[in-house]
Order: sequence, then structure tokens, then C-alpha cells
Amino acid sequence: MTAVLWLRRDLRRRDHPALLAARDAAGDGDLVVAFVVDPRLWGGAGPVRRAWLAANLRALDESLGGALTLLHGDPRTVMPALAGRVSATSVHVSRETTPAGLRRDGTVRDALGSGVEWVETGTPYAVGPGLVTNGSGEPYKVFTPFARAWRRHGWPDPAPTPRELPLRHARNDADATAALDAALSASDLPALPAAGEEAALRRFRAFRDDHLAGYDDDRDRPALDATSRMSPYLKLGVVHPRTLLAELGERSGTGADSFRTELAWREFYADVLHHNPRSAWHDLRPTLQGMRYDEPEDAVEAWTKGETGYPVVDAGMRQLLAEGWMHNRVRMITASFLTKDLHVWWPVGARHFLDHLADGDVASNNHGWQWVAGTGTDASPYFRVFNPVTQGEKFDPDGEYVRRWVPELRHLPGKAAHQPWEHADGYAHGYPQRIVDHAAERQEALDRLAAVKGR
Ligand code: FAD
Repeated sequence: MTAVLWLRRDLRRRDHPALLAARDAAGDGDLVVAFVVDPRLWGGAGPVRRAWLAANLRALDESLGGALTLLHGDPRTVMPALAGRVSATSVHVSRETTPAGLRRDGTVRDALGSGVEWVETGTPYAVGPGLVTNGSGEPYKVFTPFARAWRRHGWPDPAPTPRELPLRHARNDADATAALDAALSASDLPALPAAGEEAALRRFRAFRDDHLAGYDDDRDRPALDATSRMSPYLKLGVVHPRTLLAELGERSGTGADSFRTELAWREFYADVLHHNPRSAWHDLRPTLQGMRYDEPEDAVEAWTKGETGYPVVDAGMRQLLAEGWMHNRVRMITASFLTKDLHVWWPVGARHFLDHLADGDVASNNHGWQWVAGTGTDASPYFRVFNPVTQGEKFDPDGEYVRRWVPELRHLPGKAAHQPWEHADGYAHGYPQRIVDHAAERQEALDRLAAVKGR
């Protein structure tokens, strides 16, 4: 018997129900663990996510003793060819939950035909999307009741880590290994975190032991290294959220509680996407139908480069380019700036984030954008136009985050860094002038909303 495990968003050995199912199916036979570099997805991923994926595939290959089989091409042809080549009796996967993933898996399963069993086990979430419903069996539309029901639903303990695996390597496709090499040697890559399951757990345990107690207070402070930075690992399933929840154990207190709630946001957005596949790139709620948007090319370019003249916005956009990651509070501020100050439709910003974030994930990213833009799951958010100066002063009170990412403002002490226009030497080192007047654009955003509502 040969079982194939086809990996996608589950690049790990620990807490991997589909891996255990494949091992059991292999019995005394062989287990082939494969990853397919699909040019359609690979091309659209952008250099940062490609490099992050490549680094984690290499780390996983090492942890499998070099037995990861790397293939290249359209999974609809590659998977049946692999199954035929190794005489597979079953192909195992972790169940996909995104619209695109579900479509792809349906076609691959059909292409494998009835001679090869298709087995789905587990998902990339603690509670699989679609399983948390209200008393009438309907999905939740708002986060807080979802989070309560999600906790009530609960999740199993992590699956045991297999000691021995009957691994068989099935010859790499040279195009796949070349794609990984190219991704890892691309120029201008940001400084990505250490790849692999061990690195993820090391990072998480350091966060848990040093920062969890203060997480509830500190997680909104972008200058502090006070959040887990698990998002890039969760994105590729290098670590499973159930593992993190188990690592928290019985810990109580606001820090642990708040961390569980943040993980619930990830699960909520996956659930929303599961029930509303169109919301990936279309407004979830039609609240802003008929809204007039602008396409200010120069201003959008200034936003992408971190040259808007608003310090905390620019710091965030530069962090994104430098690290392939941005602090959550600053994701909200920069998204608000693009949608409310520049009046740009949210998918433009969502696309840019996906192109540059190592954790770029359609469910979390695009619903995060819609939450800010006012078309998402929040009840009445459009009136919340973030003021980039007061937000900066509140969450970066010493200006440390701004000075870290915007060298032109390093000469301004304390919170002065948030308002260079108030200081005679504010622009002495080449920092750009503000590209818009926030007060005027806030009013413009509210006027446009009033026009939509008055229709
Ligand atoms: P922590 O504070 O340590 O939180 C732990 C985990 O909880 C995170 O790793 C993440 O999986 C989850 N989480 C926390 N906050 C959120 C949230 N608001 N929504 C969904 N999950 C959350 N997250 C992504 O993983 N991928 C994205 O592409 C993404 N794009 C975003 C775009 C915008 C406009 C906004 C406002 C938020 C976005 N987020 C995204 C959510 C959040 O910013 C990141 O998950 C978080 O900053 C990751 O850092 P961390 O792992 O240190 O988070």
C-alpha cells in the first residue's frame, strides 16, 4: 500500500491529523509526502510569500530527512501522475476551506478517479469553518457572539507527533526545486523570521513566557515586541492554532484570554469567507453601494512607499516593506488612511498587503480591510475615520516606532516625531510634506458616505 500526503497549508510534523491518517493508511507500505508548486498560485504570491514558503518547505524537508517530494505544475495533472507513478491507493489532505482551495480540491479529486481514495482530515483551524453556528444553525455575522460560541464549541487536544514514518521519496521535479532556489535568492527580500516548526515553537514559547502576561496592555503598542508574531507560521500551517491553544494550557488572566480572542478573529474571518465566498474581493455588506472612489496614482504610490507625510502611516508602510509584516494597530491606521483619507477602494490596499505580507491571507487580510473600510463585519464603522496623528500619539507615545522606521524623523524627540510640521527643523532631513490634509479628507469621507446613505 502506498499513501500520499499532499501538503498545502500544513507544513509541519506535529499536531497533523492528515499525516497520521496517511501513515495509518500506508500500514506496512510507503508514505509519500508531497508538495506541488502550482505556477498559477506561485506566480500570484509575490516574492515575499514565495520566499517564506520556500524557506518553510526546506525546513520541513530537513525535518523529514530529505523525504519531501517536490512537484511542479497543475495539481489536476500532477497529482494523478504521482498517484500512478507510486501506485497510490489513497491521497490524504487537510481539508481546504477557502473558495479557491475547495474548487481546486474538487477537480483534483475528480481527476484522481475512483481507484484512489481521497481522504480529508482536519483543517488549518481549531474549529473548522462552518462548524460554529447559532441556535438556529445559522452562521454568526458579528465577532463577539461567534467568539463565545467558538469557545463553547471547543477543540480536541493536539494530535500526537509520529515518531517513525515509512517515508518514500518520489523524485523531485527539477522545475520545483529551481522555483524554490529562485524564490530564496530573489533580490530585495525583507528580513523574514526563522523558518520551520522548531523556530515557530521557540518564538511562541518565548512570547508566552515573557510577554503573555502583559499582552492585553501591550499588544496595541507597535514599538514593543509584545505580540506573538505567529501569523506567518499560521499562514502556512507551520504551527497549528490548536497547538498554540494547548501551549497556553489552563493559563487564565487577561493576557491569555486576549490571545485566545485574537486567534478567534482568525477563525471568525475564515468562517465568514466559508459562508460568503464572494467577500474575498467584493463588499461583504452592501453598505457602501454607489460610493464614489478615487484612483489617485501618485498618492497611492506615496502610500505604498511610506511617503505620505504622516509619520505613523509611513512607519507602518516601511515596516511592511522591510519585514514582510506590520503591527496590527498600524495595519488599521494605514488601511484607514488609504480608504478614508485617499478615498481608495479597499481591494487596492488589500492587494498591496497580500503582495508584501509573509502572513498574507485572503480571509484575515481582506476582511480586515473591509472592517476598516466599512463594508465588513463591524456594525457601524464608516464614521470611524482614524486620525493618524492622535492614533500615533496614543499608541506610540514616545515616537519610538516612528523613529525606528523613518530615519528622516530621528532628530525629533518623544512624540514630536508625530508632528514634524510643528517644529522648525521638522523637515531638516528630507521627510516629505503631507500629501493631503487629514481634517479636510475626513470631512470629504463623511460627505461621500452621507451621499450614499441619502440615495
Ligand atoms: P498576535 O497579536 O500575536 O495574535 C495572535 C494571532 O491571532 C495572529 O497570529 C493571528 O493569527 C490572529 N489574529 C490577531 N489579530 C487578528 C485579526 N485582527 N484578524 C485575524 N486574525 C488575527 N492577519 C493575517 O494573518 N494575515 C493577513 O493577511 C492580515 N491582514 C490584515 C490586514 C488588515 C487591514 C488588518 C487590520 C489586519 C490584518 N491581519 C492579518 C490581522 C492581524 O493584523 C495580524 O494577524 C497580526 O498583526 C499578526 O501578528 P501577530 O501574529 O504578532 O499577532
